[in-house]
Amino acid sequence: MFLVVAVALASGLGALALGLLAGALVNALADQVVGVDEPIWSASQCRKCLAPLPSPAPLALREFFAPGRVCGACGKRASLRRPLTQLALALFMPAALWRAFATPSHGALPAWALFGMAVAAGVALAFIFVVDLEHRLIYDLSIFPLLVALLALTGVFDRSRLVSVIFAAVLSGALFLLFYGLGWLLYRQEALGFGDVKLALLLGAIVGWPGLITALLVTAVTAAILSMLLLASGAVDRRAFIPFGVFMAGAAALTLLIAPLPW
Ligand SMILES: [Zn+2]
Repeated sequence: MFLVVAVALASGLGALALGLLAGALVNALADQVVGVDEPIWSASQCRKCLAPLPSPAPLALREFFAPGRVCGACGKRASLRRPLTQLALALFMPAALWRAFATPSHGALPAWALFGMAVAAGVALAFIFVVDLEHRLIYDLSIFPLLVALLALTGVFDRSRLVSVIFAAVLSGALFLLFYGLGWLLYRQEALGFGDVKLALLLGAIVGWPGLITALLVTAVTAAILSMLLLASGAVDRRAFIPFGVFMAGAAALTLLIAPLPW
């Protein structure tokens, strides 16, 4: 009994450390991204006046407590994206470990492989979330390598699971393609980015079927609530572009933790 508790505790702490490392990796990658929207902005600059910010703390979590990164020119505080990303992944990894080992799926993939796939999905989703929020960009490179890897691994180990994962990916992609087309017809402009359509494929492959229903519901509800709050507060107008990828990535990560792993 003691041994079981000790092993569980050690694995949990290991997963937490892995989450801190993964958070540092996602932050380092996201810091490299330079936007395309005007004014062109990167995370090393103040959001308000574009002056260079002081260099970030090595352990992002410290930025919660320290007086933190404040713009030397205008005094605006740097965003809390770095500590929040690290905190989110430090919480995600132990939960994913528990999901992979304590609640085995009915598939043939071993628990360590399931955990590895959940780790890769968590890292990619965190990166997609941050970059879409900060720059309204979704890179193909953050979607397709993981999409191919998830399908390949599921296909090699378990053909029956592959069918439901492909079904979810295609259904999700087709649904967002339909929204994309409707957006063009109704508004004569991109109401939804095409990156969101590609992300929808990955979303399906990450949550599978029937997890896709949960993920789409969470996406729709969170996006609707936040849009209404932003509209009511006057922060945005009706024609504002919604970085939908943020909601999809968040919903996919949450679904991984609350529904059985699909692979
Ligand atoms: Zn500034």
